[in-house]
Amino acid sequence: MEFRVINDVPKTPGGIKFEKEIGIPFTKQILPKIINYIWSTLFQQNNPSERKNIDVLQVFITKIDEKPTPVGVAYGNTINISVDFIQETKTEEMKWYFTAVMLHEATHVFQWNGEWECPSGLREGVAEYAMLKANYVKPNFLKPGEGDRWDQGYAFTARFLEYCEGLVPGFVAKLNKKMRKTYNVLYFKEITGKSVEQLWMDYKAKYGKKN
Ligand SMILES: [Zn+2]
Repeated sequence: MEFRVINDVPKTPGGIKFEKEIGIPFTKQILPKIINYIWSTLFQQNNPSERKNIDVLQVFITKIDEKPTPVGVAYGNTINISVDFIQETKTEEMKWYFTAVMLHEATHVFQWNGEWECPSGLREGVAEYAMLKANYVKPNFLKPGEGDRWDQGYAFTARFLEYCEGLVPGFVAKLNKKMRKTYNVLYFKEITGKSVEQLWMDYKAKYGKKN
């Protein structure tokens, strides 16, 4: 796999900060480690035929014109990292936070999404779970048992997936494998023996939370 890392905005304060505090060599150095973690640990795709095949992975440090501005976005084989996020992040946290964001966005690149039938909250939950499992989250990361719905997304769904993983080790890897071509909410039951609604109720009850 070839890595292309492009600083689109080298003359802006954030672009200059990227070169000084992170840089293209560091980015190219962490990418293979992140991808290896995604394949081997997160998704347990030991056979290359199970993986999403990508020849070139592109990373742009760029201005993201969305409000509110996300720290990063991924589409196809491309990851955009917000130059505003780099500018606003404290220098001492910079490399750590950048790595965490890359982990989240790279998970989007390599996850199966049931040809986009998988709910967006589940996609975001898996990407956030990638950070949680790697222990690449801040100490104030959401505690288990919070949220209103299993597919609420991000940390809410990540904590729920962590619970499912506790019931069936490798749950997220199994779920990802099933979502290669299509998505069905029954995958939860096929893997754990319980419907997603039942799992969510059990999860809330475990942490003493009302549904
Ligand atoms: Zn995301």
